[in-house]
Amino acid sequence: MEIYLDANATTPVMAQARAAALATMAEDYGNPSSIHSTGLKARALMDAVRGRARQVLGAPTGQLLFVSGATEGIQTAVLSALSALRERRGAPDAPELLLYGATEHKAVPEALKHWNALLGLGLQVVAIPVGPDGRHDLGWLRDHAPRAGLVCTMAANNETGVISDLDGIAAALEGSAALWMVDSVQALGKLPLHLAQRRIDYAPFSGHKLYAPKGIGMLYVREGAPFTPLLAGGGQEGAQRSGTENMSGIAALGAVLAALQGGLGFKNPATLVGYRARLVDALQEAFPGLVFNAPLDLCLPTTLNFSVPGLSSKLLLDLFDAADVRVSGGSACSAAQAKPSFVLEAMGLPVWQTASAVRLSFGPAADADFIDEACARIRACGESLRDCCFGSTPGRVMPADGVTRFVVDAACCYLVADEQSRRCVVIDPLPEVNERLAQQIRCQGYTLAAVLDTHSHGDHASSAPELRDAARDLLEGGGATPLDPLGWPRGTEHISLGALSLTRLALPGHTEDSTAYLLRDAQGLRMAFVGDTVMPGALGRSDFVQSAPLAFGPSLRRLEEAVGPHGLLAPGHDYDQRAATTLSTECAGQPLLSRVLRGAMEAAAFAAAKSELEQGLGLTEYQTLACGARVAPGADTTSHELESAALHDLLQGPGGLVVVDVREPYEQRLSTTPDLGPDVHYQAVPMSRLLNALPSWLALPAETPVLFVCRSGNRSAYAAHALRRLGHAQSWNLAGGLALWPKPMPGLLDIDLAA
Ligand code: PLP
Repeated sequence: MEIYLDANATTPVMAQARAAALATMAEDYGNPSSIHSTGLKARALMDAVRGRARQVLGAPTGQLLFVSGATEGIQTAVLSALSALRERRGAPDAPELLLYGATEHKAVPEALKHWNALLGLGLQVVAIPVGPDGRHDLGWLRDHAPRAGLVCTMAANNETGVISDLDGIAAALEGSAALWMVDSVQALGKLPLHLAQRRIDYAPFSGHKLYAPKGIGMLYVREGAPFTPLLAGGGQEGAQRSGTENMSGIAALGAVLAALQGGLGFKNPATLVGYRARLVDALQEAFPGLVFNAPLDLCLPTTLNFSVPGLSSKLLLDLFDAADVRVSGGSACSAAQAKPSFVLEAMGLPVWQTASAVRLSFGPAADADFIDEACARIRACGESLRDCCFGSTPGRVMPADGVTRFVVDAACCYLVADEQSRRCVVIDPLPEVNERLAQQIRCQGYTLAAVLDTHSHGDHASSAPELRDAARDLLEGGGATPLDPLGWPRGTEHISLGALSLTRLALPGHTEDSTAYLLRDAQGLRMAFVGDTVMPGALGRSDFVQSAPLAFGPSLRRLEEAVGPHGLLAPGHDYDQRAATTLSTECAGQPLLSRVLRGAMEAAAFAAAKSELEQGLGLTEYQTLACGARVAPGADTTSHELESAALHDLLQGPGGLVVVDVREPYEQRLSTTPDLGPDVHYQAVPMSRLLNALPSWLALPAETPVLFVCRSGNRSAYAAHALRRLGHAQSWNLAGGLALWPKPMPGLLDIDLAA
């Protein structure tokens, strides 16, 4: 069962609302503008819903229009206010400012800017600062209100749940002629608004945030407040909002309002506060160190916004989703990086909090069983992380064996570990992951045999000393072993980790001290950690003071002698998320590299050609074009996305199918393996451990399809692309991820149109 904790984004439609909507579609389907009986019935229904809404909102006077949602309500309010302000242009007391709360939903500032420009007003659109508690700076507002034409403040914030001090805002606006819009979307059903008792001029609402369907909303307009219709046409809604009314939406909204008024299913504030307290306990137990990003006593009891030190919102979202708990990132996540939340930034919270926030929100009709189950799942999420060594207690799941990769801003750090001997090495440590690495190694009871750098860095110091400090108790010999500048134990030819062993290969070029570490097992070479000498799609720069450009070409040839054209290279940077590369992959489309490897180009000529490129291109461009003509990153035009119909073909096909779940162990532990039938070979290979399995997939018969799956389809797309780039053409990812598995899109799209 899904535990949906993202009610601030949208809610399911409640049963009464569904029934009401269906009835208007099937039976009472009249147009309220028609004057026959069917139409009159529709009008009566609409009037009844409007009447009920007036009661719920405390708005016996003024207009209450049905609109499509809050965004339309906001446009209408802003257009109305700004049209009136246009009339006052040039007057001595004409306002100069349009103010909006710094944490307002984007619909508000964007509407202000849009209509300000379109109406040619040229007013200054300025954000009202908020304090660390997320509430408006009322002193600032008082100072600026006299020059403002419109002030927009939300009743409660959608990301944090912070409730605005509407009475305080009203007091700060005293004496100002500014119009006042209160975005009341998140307050509906959760806070009493008493609209008519306040000087609020405009208040937009959205049905889908409170168990009604998407596409229905309301706009309250105070009696006497300026009004300009956004939509002109057939004159519906007293010509204030033309267009045939959304009767099924209105009926559904009416059913929700009736339930709210009658207390049917809706919980009182004390109950909701009790629910929140239980969720808070579960969260704190699951994620020690968790901080809430807004003071709970100022927030809607139905919204919790938190951050956990060391855990990104992406990681937490993946984790919750695996447990079938839907929450949202408090910040907008792109595939590669989480963008910090502008709401939390406006509150002046530390960067780590703004970039790793998670929002959990439930609806006011939640019940105790739902909250119980939510708490149990949250606790299970915490346990899963602890089992995977995200805590200090010993973990139980998938002890590190082989190579685990950590990536921060395209920089790669590797943990090479052997489960049998419980020994490990870290290559190219990164400050952002050191603490977590030390914790994971400690939790698994491994000895840290060495912390190695592949080269000294031109622009920053190595973070190896920091990791050695954090993991001093885990270091072999207590950290007393003499080391060379890259961390290699002096006087040792190889570092052995049980069946694995590491040796060095000097590769001067990117820097004079650039070194590859070759990882071998009983079968031979597994892979080489090559730092910035070769990256997927690029050669390392050689224009630093510590570079050795003339040595670059000979180093590449030495690398090829050691690893061969198909030896797997684990890079120090992975700008295109391609995981790993080989010299033969890099040579395809990189004429300079092939020529230098074939010995067809002298070291000096190669250095000169490379230097020309380095000078002619910016850093990022260089990193992806280092060796001359090649396809730009991401320009892989062959699609590796597999729709479900094609999946069916693969399942039936002769090649046998390998399905690889690339979710991390803490996710896999929480969810069940998809049932794919007996002919499918299923593997769980977390993205962070992909490198270990690449050679075995590359060794598969060319016709054997490998299908990667993950939660949303992002990670599996990278894996498919990486394997395809390395030469296995039958690499696929499941479009839309496991969310659409095994049935891609239930409902209408499944209808057989021919039937
Ligand atoms: N205002 C707030 C506070 C919201 O949370 C939302 C929806 O996320 C909106 C406005 C926009 O609402 P709608 O999707 O109905 O246009």
